Amino acid sequence: MKDYLVRATAEEGKVRTVAAVTTNLVKHAQKIHGLSPLASVALGRTLTAGVLMSVFLKSPKNTQTIQIKGDGPLGGIVVVSDSEANVRGYVHNPLVYLPLNSEGKFDVAGAIGKGYLNVIKDLGLKEPYVGYVDLISGEIAEDIAYYYAYSEQIPTIVALGVLTSADKIIETAGGFIIQLMPDAGEETINFLEEKIKNLSSVTGLLKDGKTPEDILDMIFSERNLKIGEKAPCNYKCNCSRERMYRNIISLGKEEIKNILKEQSEIEAQCHFCDMKYQFQESDLREIIGEES
Ligand SMILES: [Zn+2]
Repeated sequence: MKDYLVRATAEEGKVRTVAAVTTNLVKHAQKIHGLSPLASVALGRTLTAGVLMSVFLKSPKNTQTIQIKGDGPLGGIVVVSDSEANVRGYVHNPLVYLPLNSEGKFDVAGAIGKGYLNVIKDLGLKEPYVGYVDLISGEIAEDIAYYYAYSEQIPTIVALGVLTSADKIIETAGGFIIQLMPDAGEETINFLEEKIKNLSSVTGLLKDGKTPEDILDMIFSERNLKIGEKAPCNYKCNCSRERMYRNIISLGKEEIKNILKEQSEIEAQCHFCDMKYQFQESDLREIIGEES
């Protein structure tokens, strides 16, 4: 199955929802970053959240950054997505390893530790919108749901999953977000709580060959589900030599002079795609305004 997302509404528009399959892009992230299985699950869940949340961005140029920072051995996670569901991300410690948790699952909460979650939305305004919440679980889905409830006052259900095989290969990844609009009543909330409680895991359903549409249909079948637009989602970095050059300029002339005392070139690596860019002494001298 190719990666894609699908939007839908239910309950006469009182509920909006989006579901996605993200297996290929999570596999891609694992490969380019050389992620441990635990790091793959943590980043994969966050990349999936980035894909799902991208549908709430309004304009094509809007971007959104999910930043998770904790005191655990993973360090932190950064995921950026745009309104076309292009997503990219990295973790601070790609090789993190911990024993499985008491439920026999990857210990994502243990890897992240205590900390906070930021959502930074660049909506093309002067200042970006920044939402901030403390982590309440560290398993990511609950934390994203809490972010929406607390920071945007939208009751939200989030499911994110990355399933690995016994030999630690990613089998499926995906998830969904369900949001209640202000006119949704108690009855809808109770209905959803009951449904979600009895729903198998998203990754298990995907493994059984269910599509994102099937999963939404399992939740909302008798509730006026209206499947909307389907769109591809991809792992895509937008780095370039020019962007990297600007980053080096932003180090400042003093810092570049210090670097030149030690070495004659700089190799800058993109955090998001691990692409390497070389800058020679002449490039660096040009920045500080000296002939080489
Ligand atoms: Zn890149």
